[in-house]
Amino acid sequence: MQPFIVHALSQAAAEQARRSPAAVPAVAGDGPYPVRCCLADAHDSEDVVLASVMPFRGESPYAAASPVYVHSEPCAGHVEQPSAVPAMLRDRILSVRAYDGAHMLTGTEVIRGTGLERAIERLLGDAPDAYLHVHFAGPGCYACRIDRAA
Ligand SMILES: [Zn+2]
Repeated sequence: MQPFIVHALSQAAAEQARRSPAAVPAVAGDGPYPVRCCLADAHDSEDVVLASVMPFRGESPYAAASPVYVHSEPCAGHVEQPSAVPAMLRDRILSVRAYDGAHMLTGTEVIRGTGLERAIERLLGDAPDAYLHVHFAGPGCYACRIDRAA
């Protein structure tokens, strides 16, 4: 299959989210907290805030802000590696949504995280500007973006 890249929130987007007026401390006992700045599970609520981000990079009727957990302070972030799936995604039910270059929805699947590579292969298609958004299926929160590796 074609290699892909799983993208965390950019450092700038994570910083904007954690400093936004809408950001609130994570609720103790709700963990683990899948932080979108690192694409890893954080376990201490004191290290995490719940904030809102806009994951779309262009105008779209599908564009909607989403709640996300991010580290409450700047962190090391996520190291991108071709075709590597963060462990944070494996144990969760995921809603995978495919978009074309005009940010229009082209396909969706709800899957177990263990099957993410196969969903990527089915949904990403051949268009060079296609991309995926992954959400946690229950709460519907945005988790990450997936693009083909350059
Ligand atoms: Zn982080």
